[in-house]
Amino acid sequence: MAAETVFGKIVSGEIPVEVLAETDRVLAFPDMSPQAPVHILVIPKSTAYENVAELAAAEPETLAEMISVANDLAKEHANGDYRLVFNSGATAGQTVFHVHAHVLAGNLEERSLGAS
Ligand code: 5GP
Repeated sequence: MAAETVFGKIVSGEIPVEVLAETDRVLAFPDMSPQAPVHILVIPKSTAYENVAELAAAEPETLAEMISVANDLAKEHANGDYRLVFNSGATAGQTVFHVHAHVLAGNLEERSLGAS
């Protein structure tokens, strides 16, 4: 079991958030410090997994559900285009060690990794 994180407290309701989507296994809410016009976090309710590789190995169906929820949210809150980011490890920028997808959308071209 991973150490308790702020996202565990969000799942338990100890820290309130605006729930944007919820399934039996997945929760989505706005990032408190948005880095794009649309910046939503999608997390598994399980607190067992620190990063996306652990989740993919143990519960690939939950990872697939996170991506499906992210896809739906990008259609609802933007034009359906989005970038999905999983920071994995402190030196890659991960600060919360409960696996989460950043769903970034809305005019990202200028900051695109693919921009020349
Ligand atoms: P990481 O840096 O681990 O990939 O992303 C963690 C994200 O969680 C950051 O973008 C940060 O703004 C967000 N975050 C941290 N604590 C909270 C919180 O209590 N509520 C919300 N909504 N977002 C949070």
